[in-house]
Amino acid sequence: MPVAIEFQQVSRHYGDVKALDRVSFSVEEGEFFSMLGPSGSGKTTSLRLMAGFEQPSSGSLRLMGNEASGTPPYARDVNTVFQDYALFPHMNVLDNVAYGLMVRKVPKAERLAQAREALAMVALPDHGERTPAQLSGGQRQRVALARALVNRPRILLLDEPLGALDLKLREQMQVELKVLHRKLGITFVYVTHDQSEALSMSDRIAVFNKGQIEQIATPRDLYHRPRTRFVADFVGSSNVFDAELAHNLTGKRQPFAVRQEKISLLALGMSAAPGSLQVEGEVLAIQFLGASQRVEVRVGNQTLTALQPESEAASALAAATQAGQRIALQWAEQHMVMLDA
Ligand code: ADP
Ligand code: MG
Repeated sequence: MPVAIEFQQVSRHYGDVKALDRVSFSVEEGEFFSMLGPSGSGKTTSLRLMAGFEQPSSGSLRLMGNEASGTPPYARDVNTVFQDYALFPHMNVLDNVAYGLMVRKVPKAERLAQAREALAMVALPDHGERTPAQLSGGQRQRVALARALVNRPRILLLDEPLGALDLKLREQMQVELKVLHRKLGITFVYVTHDQSEALSMSDRIAVFNKGQIEQIATPRDLYHRPRTRFVADFVGSSNVFDAELAHNLTGKRQPFAVRQEKISLLALGMSAAPGSLQVEGEVLAIQFLGASQRVEVRVGNQTLTALQPESEAASALAAATQAGQRIALQWAEQHMVMLDA
């Protein structure tokens, strides 16, 4: 696959703040690539470097094979969709979408035709005469998308584009963005702090933490094989066994993770299934969640969580188990994921 974007040892420092610290990765052409991480981890900085709104403090950044540093934003084959839409309030929708073409001196009839086409692409063909104030949040986000797409970029950058929408609309737009990505065949770089959004949409995900990338992987690999404690904590919900507890259980000081749904309860005095490990602790809480129930257990100075699918057996066990009791947890060795740190 040809490479659309390549970061080599890229840093961006603001005084003492290392917004991005010697980061290297590449995005393939046509990929849906997400940058996932908590607030302040360097996602927007990375996106702004791609767009050309920022320059690296050091390192090299290539776009479509060419060193990007000398190229201003408007000359890059890249367009950005921001969370806050950044629409012009006094212009109607069609003019908002056609604005980039006007700046590039595309003749009026042609730019309006292209703007209409872009609005059709985002399923808003009949709203061209309205002003942004006359649209819903979801419709405004579509206009922002059309305004980026009308320039026919090879790379579309999206910075938390659905952050302002309510859950239902957000899920609908996630599906639409995926469909659009497939239809256009261009590279999407998608910033989000929402792990379920990243897992559901992406070809690959880069997990950012404190200006560095912890892991880059497909959604499935990230979920099942987190490499670090941070990724195990941040993506999905894993139990992280710290070095000391790991040492008590396995004889080695290497921390490991086990997903909540892979841990089950075991009555005291019963032995774990073959190929499984067990640990005893004190029940802190049992929560009925409908399709499942969550049991929190204190083991040493750690809290472990087991997520059991709801069943008659699980109900019976829950009815017989109370906070404060001692209980055992078990998990199969095959579900232990060894962590680097
Ligand atoms: P994210 O998008 O992951 O929330 P950002 O890339 O916006 O994170 O920011 C990363 C870090 O860099 C944060 O600590 C932020 O405060 C800092 N930062 C970003 N832009 C600037 C700036 N223009 N001046 C100073 N610090 C900045
Ligand atoms: Mg940001």
